[in-house]
Amino acid sequence: MIKPDAVQDGNSGAILKMIEEAGFRIVALKKTQLSSERAGQFYEVHKERPFYGDLCRYMSSGPIFAAILEKDNAVADFRKLIGATNPTNAEEGTIRKKFAKSIEANAVHGSDSDENAEIEGSFFFSRFERF
Ligand code: ATP
Ligand code: MG
Repeated sequence: MIKPDAVQDGNSGAILKMIEEAGFRIVALKKTQLSSERAGQFYEVHKERPFYGDLCRYMSSGPIFAAILEKDNAVADFRKLIGATNPTNAEEGTIRKKFAKSIEANAVHGSDSDENAEIEGSFFFSRFERF
């Protein structure tokens, strides 16, 4: 997902370019906006965390791009490409180092397992929309 801060700043194209140059195939892509409730569902694993309310507000604050990406070793390689959650700790050359503003407004989301990638893909896309 390209998060609201990055879309708002006009960085979507640059981020998609970095993703494609890193060897990912964009299988599906859509611009949409989450309601706070739907953002809450997406990040349900974090519902007990102190930042959950702010996260739901931020994730519903503007449009996002949702994408399904394909590559060998996609989950691990994508997390390497996006960098650490907190951009202060993100390595040079990563998407978050380049575009994230803070630990919350950190430009992109990546799935953390193949299983969650399946679940999150289905959150945004129906099977028939995947090419
Ligand atoms: P994501 O799941 O979005 O790819 P991540 O896996 O690197 O990020 P998580 O621990 O899953 O990090 O946190 C989910 C999101 O919640 C973060 O990307 C960030 O937007 C927000 N977040 C995480 N930790 C904090 C924090 N301490 N304060 C504020 N927001 C946070
Ligand atoms: Mg996560």
